[in-house]
Amino acid sequence: MIAPLLALLLATSPPTHLQVSSARGIIMIPLLQQRSDGPLVSLNALARALGGTVEPDATWVTLSTAAGRFRFLAGTPLVQDGVALRGMPGASQRRGDSLFVPLAFVAEVLADSARRAWNWTAATTMLSEGAGPAQLTMPVSKTTVGNAGRNRLPGGLRAGHRVTIDPGHGGIDPGNPGMFFPRGLREKDVTLAVGLLVAAELEKKGVRVTMTRTRDTLINLGQRAPRYCQVDCDLFVSIHVNSLDRRPGFTQVRGFETYFLSEARSADAERVARMENSAVRYDMHPSDVERSTGLDFMFKDLQRAEFLRQSQHAASLIQSMLEEVHDGPNNGVKQAGFAVLNTARRPSVLIEMGFSTNRDDAELMTTPDGQRDLAAAIARAIVAYLRYYDQETADTSSGSGQ
Ligand SMILES: [Zn+2]
Repeated sequence: MIAPLLALLLATSPPTHLQVSSARGIIMIPLLQQRSDGPLVSLNALARALGGTVEPDATWVTLSTAAGRFRFLAGTPLVQDGVALRGMPGASQRRGDSLFVPLAFVAEVLADSARRAWNWTAATTMLSEGAGPAQLTMPVSKTTVGNAGRNRLPGGLRAGHRVTIDPGHGGIDPGNPGMFFPRGLREKDVTLAVGLLVAAELEKKGVRVTMTRTRDTLINLGQRAPRYCQVDCDLFVSIHVNSLDRRPGFTQVRGFETYFLSEARSADAERVARMENSAVRYDMHPSDVERSTGLDFMFKDLQRAEFLRQSQHAASLIQSMLEEVHDGPNNGVKQAGFAVLNTARRPSVLIEMGFSTNRDDAELMTTPDGQRDLAAAIARAIVAYLRYYDQETADTSSGSGQ
């Protein structure tokens, strides 16, 4: 979402050109207009104006300038700025021989006042070399992306829903190594990319989103749910990628599954729980997790049982929506004892989107189209769950005798 002030300026006078002012003079770059998400600018043209270079590869397109290096995950709203992965208000798009990126990248990331290299003037759509007075630099980091204040949203959803998206792993915990992922990508990168896309989809539908992380950082397992999904949070969704250890035929196994919390039931569910729980070793205060690994509190009262029932319903909706976009098998709704769900005090699920040890699943999870499809399916399921939740609470509040 474009920050409100910038959106207003763009709305009153849609800019046709970006002006880049430097020692090389003023260079005008035509903008590509789009119906939604604001104008796009050619990265090749931008690089020429900045005296930089563009290097594309299969997945990432890198812009190198004197002020820094920016890697775009083509087809997604993600740009890596140094070590931070940042969200833009719209996706980058490949057109011809160039990647086109949202103008907001120029206004908010390149001209970030912290960088002190470029200065942005929204009124004239001008990027000027050198640090100027900080103005109109909007934070792009989405700790909370929001759209509150309306009573009924398109599609009949009640306003004010909040969902927490938890991209698995991060920082020194890479998750699984991503055997068939493109070079350098690991589970933590894929969960973050898809997680940010899910957040963007939900935001479009008026659902407020809290992210446990928007960058490549580590959040303790035991803190993810209780800290980021509290009493006003309707659902906690943890996103992961499955993998198998080497054994005969292991690369043939594929498909998607969604878990809700329980004592692990099957040997396979226990394996997945063990794998995801092993991230505890990276936690800075592991005692937080150890204190709460018992399941007893979960079943102490009816509310816990109710949360489990709702979690199961959310999990089955996610499975059926994923089935529409995933060509691997639907491995079903499962139960296991995940540490990240164990500390949750709200309905919560954990999605394993596919196996990085299977070539087809890995491709689905790392291509821009595949990530967009997976994210859209997960977001559709979450909205369907919230609609069901609205209905249930409406029934409850309409009194007895119903
Ligand atoms: Zn994982």
